[in-house]
Amino acid sequence: MALTLAIANQKGGVGKTTTAVNLAAGLSSRGLRVLLIDLDPQANATMGAGVDKQHLQQTIYQILVEDAELASVRQHSDSGGFDVLPANRDLAGAEVEMVSMMAREQRLKGALADIKADYDLILLDCPPALNLLTLNGLVAADSVLIPMQCEYYALEGLTDLVNTVRMVKKHLNPKIDILGLLRTMVDSRSTLSQQVAEQLQKHFGNKVFDTVIPRNVRLAEAPSYGIPGMLYDKTSRGAQAYLAFTDELMARLGLQIAETASA
Ligand code: ADP
Ligand code: MG
Repeated sequence: MALTLAIANQKGGVGKTTTAVNLAAGLSSRGLRVLLIDLDPQANATMGAGVDKQHLQQTIYQILVEDAELASVRQHSDSGGFDVLPANRDLAGAEVEMVSMMAREQRLKGALADIKADYDLILLDCPPALNLLTLNGLVAADSVLIPMQCEYYALEGLTDLVNTVRMVKKHLNPKIDILGLLRTMVDSRSTLSQQVAEQLQKHFGNKVFDTVIPRNVRLAEAPSYGIPGMLYDKTSRGAQAYLAFTDELMARLGLQIAETASA
């Protein structure tokens, strides 16, 4: 049965999508069966995985709003080696349409039940808001992974996210936990980056992953080619960091490298 991981932070531009796409590619390269679900109407994860959002008959919108079969919506990322439930702008309307539905925060969880046996891991790329789409992600998830940039206001925003996870745990999904925090776009020469990184460790202790993702231009270039950064230039520091993070995360989850892993 797949473990479901929500990649969430209500701040935009902190590296959620980059982490989602690269982790999906990393886990696939380790032989695991991965489904990446794009919960953001901006559809950056969809495009980053090489799926063209302009030419989709069905997206996650039809799953959430119209009860479409998940198996008929999913696509395969040839560049990344994993499956994708794509999104496009339609998803922005889903929030409004779901408001009047019964158990509106449980829609995604319900849809995933059918296909959980097909995967080892399901990754949810959440939008930059604590909205109904993110809530659907948190209700469907076993754990939350929080990417964050080490900048001055980073910790402030974390409080809201941690409180939201706490509320979800209390009322909607008792099993949810914060798996860990991943420091992204780190500039090792910046003292501010280092100060925030230290503060983080003080607050969250061993929840903070040891692996740090450096700021690396190759990771930023890759999405325009529809290739996960870690495969676009395997030798780049960014690619190597995401592979190290993949292994650290697998160790934390007790997951083994599968026999079929590519070298
Ligand atoms: P989010 O999904 O949280 O909004 P993204 O993953 O889309 O954040 O990242 C925001 C921007 O920063 C994107 O243009 C992305 O390509 C870039 N980016 C993300 N991580 C890195 C990194 N480690 N180094 C350089 N650029 C990065
Ligand atoms: Mg994003």
